[in-house]
Amino acid sequence: MEKTDILSLTLDECRSLAVEMGEKKFRGEQLYSWMQKGTPLSEMNNLPKAFRERIEEECDYRLPEIVKKQVSQKDGTVKYLMRMIDGECVESVFMRYEHGNTVCVSCQAGCRMGCRFCASTLRGRARDLTAGEIFGQIAVIGRDTGERVGGIVMMGIGEPLDNYDNTVKFLRLVSAEAGLNIGLRHISVSTCGLIPGIKRLSKEGLPVTLSISLHASNDERRSSLMPVNNKYPIEPLLAACREYFEKTGRRVSFEYTLISGENDSERDAKDLSGLLKKGIKGPCHINLIMLNRVDETGFEAPDRKGAERFCRLLEENGMNATIRRRLGSDIDASCGQLRLNNMENQSQKAVK
Ligand code: SAH
Repeated sequence: MEKTDILSLTLDECRSLAVEMGEKKFRGEQLYSWMQKGTPLSEMNNLPKAFRERIEEECDYRLPEIVKKQVSQKDGTVKYLMRMIDGECVESVFMRYEHGNTVCVSCQAGCRMGCRFCASTLRGRARDLTAGEIFGQIAVIGRDTGERVGGIVMMGIGEPLDNYDNTVKFLRLVSAEAGLNIGLRHISVSTCGLIPGIKRLSKEGLPVTLSISLHASNDERRSSLMPVNNKYPIEPLLAACREYFEKTGRRVSFEYTLISGENDSERDAKDLSGLLKKGIKGPCHINLIMLNRVDETGFEAPDRKGAERFCRLLEENGMNATIRRRLGSDIDASCGQLRLNNMENQSQKAVK
């Protein structure tokens, strides 16, 4: 029988679990409240021993374990390598912004989307994370830093809309009033553009910010960088974004990673502006990201001046664009590489 994944439970479900195990309802509330703080079972000292033992035996408490931690000396960004119950590792990042602390979470161990410039996808997808495992990254970071987390970006390893049910469950968990109560408006879900998932998400009543990884202004170039574009090309993707805005009232933002010689020319900037003006017909924002070099991919980032020129061109063409500040540049804070290095170390150990 599959064990109950208790970190994925809502407050009500925790109450029911307690009752099923012969305890009073409030024991479930205590359990829930400890889990929100990322507390290990052994430290839940107001729970009766018998209850803890039953949980230990009959449930999985999938709290991630911190196996590596890198702290940026420049801006206090903390990057974590977290181990899941079965040994799979993912990355999470804690970032300090003026408007509050934000955590970047992973939603799958690996990724199967195959974007050519991305480290997370190089070894494919091992498995989806459960809602609790996504949530657990935030709980553990809250405990480790002792600070409040006010915002979340689903921009770590994995494709949220390829793990749709757990993503939606996670969004409900993390925004629950009785729990961390993180405002849905302070949560961004980033996707490579799985159209059916975008349409479903627009009907969930979850007003999160949708971020589309666009990275190119025409189908030929986008398909060469992102195989997913063969299935879900740009035009219907932008139509789904319009629908998202109409249904949720939330403006969609676009991510555009600048890759030298691939998508960073003047022509590209003009085409991108034209494309979004025509395709979105409403307000939108473009986040320019400097490529983070991944050795295996052979791509390079443009220089800072080139990126600024690109940004200016977008603005001159009526777009709202910014170059994303690179937090944690001294600790290699973009995702995928720690997991990859860790996997390589593990397999070297296995060979030895
Ligand atoms: N699967 C989601 C989340 C991915 S990570 C998505 O595709 O949106 C968040 C962002 O980082 C995406 O826009 C992704 O395309 C981008 N990204 C991936 N690898 C990168 C790299 N090496 N340098 C810069 N950005 C990268």
